[in-house]
Amino acid sequence: MSGAVIEVADLVVRYGTATALDRVALTVGAGEMVALIGPNGAGKTSLVNAVLGLLRPASGRVRLSGRAGLVPEGRQMFDDLTVEDNLALGAWRRRGRGARDTAPVYRALPRLAELRGRRAGTLSGGEQQMVAFGRALMAAPDVVVVDELSLGLAPLVTADLAGHLRALNAERGVAVLLIEQNARLALDLCGRGYVLEAGRIRAEGTAAELAAGPAVLDAYLGGR
Ligand code: ATP
Repeated sequence: MSGAVIEVADLVVRYGTATALDRVALTVGAGEMVALIGPNGAGKTSLVNAVLGLLRPASGRVRLSGRAGLVPEGRQMFDDLTVEDNLALGAWRRRGRGARDTAPVYRALPRLAELRGRRAGTLSGGEQQMVAFGRALMAAPDVVVVDELSLGLAPLVTADLAGHLRALNAERGVAVLLIEQNARLALDLCGRGYVLEAGRIRAEGTAAELAAGPAVLDAYLGGR
């Protein structure tokens, strides 16, 4: 598909003899917001790592067009560094003037400007997730991959971060691949999505189709 920022086809990932991903196919179009929903151990992080080139698949194709920014599972702050320094690390792949300029990130996420001198380890979970988000923006990404936006965060904090993600997409056209265990959140935010279970895509479709379909209803929305 042309215009895709992420294209995955026939992807197989194995750890020893265990198959973590079995012939997975997924695309994220330019400027699109796509959800990847699945329970613990479904293979979501393996998929993210394969897309970002952090692990070598057993077979299949992965194509990433343009730059990706990652909001990793568990946020992965450098606790002893300041917010400003954590952000600067997000530009490690970029070269040239302005690559380490944090001002655009503070404009997008003004709360981070207030926190810039604080050590990351002293921040709340929601604040750390915002730093992780800002660090991903420092890559000047065409697509942001968020591995578990809501994990361990209060609903209001999650809603605030979700708003920033939506604004980033709407105002700058940055594509988003949102990995989530919270199906309702993911489908509220994204136009389209995939359900991953035990290494396989069990369902895919528009948010409305998935919300009404058995894969999501059974497993996540309590048979609404
Ligand atoms: P979680 O939400 O818990 O992070 P996930 O959906 O991201 O789960 P993965 O972390 O991709 O799932 O794991 C998929 C499967 O592969 C699981 O059964 C997991 O135990 C296994 N697995 C993941 N990493 C390794 C590894 N390095 N070595 C062996 N098995 C692994």
